[in-house]
Amino acid sequence: MRKRRATSNDVQGRHGVRTSRSECDVVIFGFRTKVFVLAVLTLLCPRCGNPAAHPVHRAVTKFTLFFVPLFPIRVKYSTQCTFCGLAGGLSKEQATGMVQQAQGAPQGYGTPQQQYPPRV
Ligand SMILES: [Zn+2]
Repeated sequence: MRKRRATSNDVQGRHGVRTSRSECDVVIFGFRTKVFVLAVLTLLCPRCGNPAAHPVHRAVTKFTLFFVPLFPIRVKYSTQCTFCGLAGGLSKEQATGMVQQAQGAPQGYGTPQQQYPPRV
């Protein structure tokens, strides 16, 4: 009889130690998004109809641990009309194509005939 009572007391004591141990672990993690401008193209805006500058943005969201960015989780491409503010999402292929256009073709008011990418 004595032994059984002693073992049940031991189990209760262990439970108390376990809960206090888990409270000590603190992990700070989160997400951070950085936006890069890959290129600026002169496109005909479908809303305002002006041959306005359209910067191609790449937004990279990274997982952070203790405020240190570790690895990218999501990459989003988008463009925005600087005249009226119309924003649209882009696929990776569309964004790279637009960047190649901007690097290859000379910029200026003479060539605003480029097609606006279709909206998703
Ligand atoms: Zn516009």
